[in-house]
Amino acid sequence: MDTQTGSFTTVPLRLHLNESPYGPPPGVCEALAAEIGSAAGRYPDSTCHDLRRALGVHLGISESMVAAGNGVDELVMLAVLAYVGRGGMVVCTATTYPGYAWAAGSIGARCSTVELDGFRVSATAIAESITPETQLVFICNPHNPTGAILAPGELDTIIDTAEAVNAVVVVDEAYIDFVDADESALGKVRAGRRLMVFRTFSKAWSLAAVRAGYAVGPTDLIDRLRQTRRSLPFSVNRLAQRAVPIALLQHGFIETVRFRTARTRELTCLKLQQAALHFLPSVTNFVMVSTAPQDSSIVTAILERKYGILVRDLAAFGLRGWIRITIGTPPEMEYCCTALTKTLGLDQP
Ligand code: PMP
Repeated sequence: MDTQTGSFTTVPLRLHLNESPYGPPPGVCEALAAEIGSAAGRYPDSTCHDLRRALGVHLGISESMVAAGNGVDELVMLAVLAYVGRGGMVVCTATTYPGYAWAAGSIGARCSTVELDGFRVSATAIAESITPETQLVFICNPHNPTGAILAPGELDTIIDTAEAVNAVVVVDEAYIDFVDADESALGKVRAGRRLMVFRTFSKAWSLAAVRAGYAVGPTDLIDRLRQTRRSLPFSVNRLAQRAVPIALLQHGFIETVRFRTARTRELTCLKLQQAALHFLPSVTNFVMVSTAPQDSSIVTAILERKYGILVRDLAAFGLRGWIRITIGTPPEMEYCCTALTKTLGLDQP
């Protein structure tokens, strides 16, 4: 921070993509530099063997239940290619990470979008929208952009209904590392339920640039996903394959990131509350804030132009009048909350 002006020297301040301000686990960047130095001219392992084995050990499951991808983005696309045909049917919530609907649209599948119920994902409404036509159901949990998480019983309602019509459920846990691990749907995979869990190293692990994500599920579903990836054999690059096993060895890293994020999230929410701003409680590394009565697109543009802060305008998610702010460091959040308060004309004289 520039102590003279109170603004950030690392402009723009990136609070729009839910990246981590803490950087990757110790040792990872050094290993990446060594990898590129020694093997830049060599293709990566198309089977991702070491990465999958390390994840299998880390999660206490067989590596045959793990598929790797170039981030969750690629896994979402692979899932649509593997389980949904042209004209097939995908179910997801109406206001969420747009990748699900984009992937479905790109292969000519239909997407049945379920409205939120008072800013909460309604397991009942999702279950009711699953029909014998449904092939794939995407549940973003914790939910982007509301920041809420479903109770395990609510997920069971969805999985029960999907299993009855032979549809595959994908639980996208891109933000689960910010929550206590026992809220994950992985236990349901271990219990033999028919679902897949997608996770990423882009968020809490701070490795968005290397593009590493993985899917965990029953072996037959994972095999189909891996078969589909055959047309992109090297999509999980050498750096991703080197970084993941090293990152996983750093015991306590995620717990520290989770703790620091939660503390800064509390500080941010307190600031927002003091400024009389309306926001939704969050279990993740972002918070959804109302800009009403001002237009969220205008507020987003002012924050960028005047203060050098990037936030996500949720008009693009169908939530006009709301923005999503990533939880950065405490000074970054102080600066952002002050800028937002000024922009909305709520600052005290
Ligand atoms: N799922 C959700 C819910 C996300 O928010 C994001 C990224 N914004 C992704 C998936 C994609 O993550 P990755 O970087 O692993 O492709």
